[in-house]
Amino acid sequence: MAADPTAVVPDQAHPSGPGHRPHPATGSSGSFVGRDESAFQRATTPDYFGWLEHVRSAAGCSHPIRLSGEVATVDRATGQLLASVSTADLPDGEIYKPCGNRRHAVCPSCARTYQRDAYQLVKAGLAGGKGIPATVAQHPAVFGTFTASSFGPVHTQRSDRAGRPIPCRPRRHADLCPHGVDLRCHQRHTDDDPTLGTPLCLDCYDYDGQAVWNHSAPELWRRTTIAITRHVHARARALGLPWVQQVTDSGRVRLVPPVKVSFGKVAEMQRRGVVHYHAVIRLDGVDPHDPNAVIPPPAALGVDDLVAAVQHAAVVAFTTRPHPVQPAGWHITWGDPGKGLDVQPVNADGDITDGKVAGYLAKYATKSTETTGHVSRRLDSDTIDLYANHQGTHPERLIDACWTLGGHRDWQQLRRWAHMLGFGGHFLTKSRRYSVTFRILRDARVIWRRTETGHEWAEQPVETTLIVGLLSYAGSGWRTTGDALLANTAAAMARERHEAAREEMTAAA
Ligand SMILES: [Zn+2]
Ligand SMILES: [Zn+2]
Ligand SMILES: [Zn+2]
Repeated sequence: MAADPTAVVPDQAHPSGPGHRPHPATGSSGSFVGRDESAFQRATTPDYFGWLEHVRSAAGCSHPIRLSGEVATVDRATGQLLASVSTADLPDGEIYKPCGNRRHAVCPSCARTYQRDAYQLVKAGLAGGKGIPATVAQHPAVFGTFTASSFGPVHTQRSDRAGRPIPCRPRRHADLCPHGVDLRCHQRHTDDDPTLGTPLCLDCYDYDGQAVWNHSAPELWRRTTIAITRHVHARARALGLPWVQQVTDSGRVRLVPPVKVSFGKVAEMQRRGVVHYHAVIRLDGVDPHDPNAVIPPPAALGVDDLVAAVQHAAVVAFTTRPHPVQPAGWHITWGDPGKGLDVQPVNADGDITDGKVAGYLAKYATKSTETTGHVSRRLDSDTIDLYANHQGTHPERLIDACWTLGGHRDWQQLRRWAHMLGFGGHFLTKSRRYSVTFRILRDARVIWRRTETGHEWAEQPVETTLIVGLLSYAGSGWRTTGDALLANTAAAMARERHEAAREEMTAAA
């Protein structure tokens, strides 16, 4: 079949509605080429391998950004123009840039990169490296999980003390809700059970409360971090630790507490459609001469003080602004006392190591609402009916609650974030001093790619030249499905080779 390649150009075919799936990065069926000659056409052009090299940095991406214009290389010290290239002289007349999406469900390749960066970032904050002093490994640090309150019973996986699965919600006698539903469940749910996280009675469930909780979670977290810091400062004062005279960046002198608290956290969307937070919390000292230095805290403050501060702060609560359906506002708290918080020392004698914590946080950093079965882009009045239904499934009712409550002038943000089930916060955040930034990791990777000196990351990104792009947006997505197939396949093969080499090196070591 002589297909017209333009008929399948991802730009035009890129779906945004229900059923949106990224392009397959690997494992495409062979029939793909049979249906579309664009791959054959591309692969038989004289400069095919030049093109493949040209797209290499974006090759694995599902939906790269294409840019055109001028790229100039400038000496950072002198400002001298070293070289200038027009993309018109490059293959396709464009530059391909990875989409950079962190979500695995949107772009598996860019999400993998993001996950690696998230791992490095969290790990450096606990073990040092990437410009963070190795002494951070000695700072008291804890790993905490902050869960939301309950909005009604849901099917869950439970286990006894020995880790054996036990029934979900066993009761000897019938436990009837006002709708006549028996709220008992004797099943031992497996990981892939689609009922996990869904309410035992959808009509009893507090969808408004959960939508508002998701929306309020960033504010609850902010108040929690303030409470932790205040508690630590109070402890320092009780111990009689002297306050530090610190010279600020602007040269003024001020008196500051001798200890600071740094945070790195990710938000995880639970199956029941509510966010909860996993956080690394670390104590730092204060350098009188450099406000940005990361130094150990006073020795008198230990991990027990940090654990106590976190436990104390986990009882923070606040009441939201009113809404016509809830004139007194909603009371926002973490989960029930004793159940809402789990806090454990990192790198102490237990099995919570920096690597484990970093891996854990990185895993959740690339996820979003997909665990609830809902994936969509931002919703508007044209698309809302596809996803919201107050008599529908669990996610549909939650989205309906966001949309309905968000109809009020003071609550419009709930509509804006309805596709995130009300949550409008960031999925990975850190305080300024916690660790390196994603930016530094990205720069280091660019330098590594340019120099290809080996497998070590550049410790400090040495930028002597500056790439100035006078580039404009030319389009997004691969030009043809054939280009997508060829580039994605090349990237997958390169990754396999890389992983195989690494395994052989590990086996030989
Ligand atoms: Zn991508
Ligand atoms: Zn159950
Ligand atoms: Zn009910």
